[in-house]
Amino acid sequence: MPLLEATNLQRHYSVSRGAFSKPASLRAVDGASFTLEKGKTLAVVGESGCGKSTLARMITMIEPPTSGELTIAGSRVDGASVQTLRALRPKVQMVFQNPYGSLNPRQKIGTILEEPLAVNTALDKTQRSEKARAMMTAVGLRPEHYDRYPHMFSGGQRQRIAIARALMLEPELVVLDEPVSALDISIQAQVLNLLAELQSKFNLAYLFISHDLTVVRHIADEVMVMYLGKVVEHGPVDAVFSAPLHPYTRALLSATPIADPLAKRNRTALKGEIPSPLNPPTGCPFHPRCPIAIAECTSRVPIQREVHNRIVACHLAS
Ligand code: SF4
Repeated sequence: MPLLEATNLQRHYSVSRGAFSKPASLRAVDGASFTLEKGKTLAVVGESGCGKSTLARMITMIEPPTSGELTIAGSRVDGASVQTLRALRPKVQMVFQNPYGSLNPRQKIGTILEEPLAVNTALDKTQRSEKARAMMTAVGLRPEHYDRYPHMFSGGQRQRIAIARALMLEPELVVLDEPVSALDISIQAQVLNLLAELQSKFNLAYLFISHDLTVVRHIADEVMVMYLGKVVEHGPVDAVFSAPLHPYTRALLSATPIADPLAKRNRTALKGEIPSPLNPPTGCPFHPRCPIAIAECTSRVPIQREVHNRIVACHLAS
């Protein structure tokens, strides 16, 4: 059984359009279906506004889905009781993009790491301290860091502290929201290597949200590409990166720098801006920007289907 299973997951918001108009419906996530196994990494990519952050909020149980099914560690999240959610929350933790903003500047590192244990477990002070110190070692911090404040650390070290805090309750799933994009490029690789190490040590599943496809290729097993709340392509990283089938995936990949300056590739430029999710295009939501759109694309929504070992939503994918 997968650790996480989402079936036709949707999150819609009602947005006011003034006193004399009916509220509009914003479909932030519109029918996402996927699974995530223990010990694996699923990357979610797309431009801002594609729904990836809303998806993260549903999986971390900050927001309930509007409809669809979400199961984590064998328990249904949609429609779950307060008690079920309380029991499930420690199993899913989140690491945010900004390590500067996510740590309380007035607390010492030891206190920051022990706080989740004080709130959620019956461990005494000595046991909490032992666990915090062990986790500091696991993430590459030194014992003397226990009594220091966040401002005394570099960006990379602060992200190590944030990762350590996320792991204190022994979660099974960690949602990583752009975890290295605020860091210097030289530090990014160190933090990514640490995440890979911790994943194999604790058999963690990662939901890795990123706009940086170079990073995704380095860390993920599968990638899910979202556009205007819909999943447009989802499959193994190697398959999707070596032969993307959806024009949007091709455009994202062609905008990604590659290491070999002599390597040739076909560029697909993305024209225009992402449309407003309050007024999405008819038919395929990508059609106003798609370089290969046909007449049918303006009126018929492409259904998700399996093509070459992955799921794609495009009339022309074959
Ligand atoms: Fe482009 Fe049409 Fe495919 Fe949409 S369905 S991605 S518009 S070709």
